Amino acid sequence: MHEEHGGRTILLAKTAGLGEISMCGCGVVSLHLGSVTLRLESQALLQVERMIQDALDQMCELAAQRATSGVVRNHVH
Ligand SMILES: [Zn+2]
Repeated sequence: MHEEHGGRTILLAKTAGLGEISMCGCGVVSLHLGSVTLRLESQALLQVERMIQDALDQMCELAAQRATSGVVRNHVH
């Protein structure tokens, strides 16, 4: 939760041992990871999501490149 201003906070997602994401009624999304809290506009959260997706795609690509050198590719995207 960010500064108290009477906004209603809704829990969007929670992962045990990792953290949680909640959204304030004013549109600010709070991403809690351990002792770290990131506050983002909901639009920025979408950008973070895309950036993570890009990173995952890149990881898969790198894994696939390694896999082509002999090992069977077993990761379908
Ligand atoms: Zn708020």
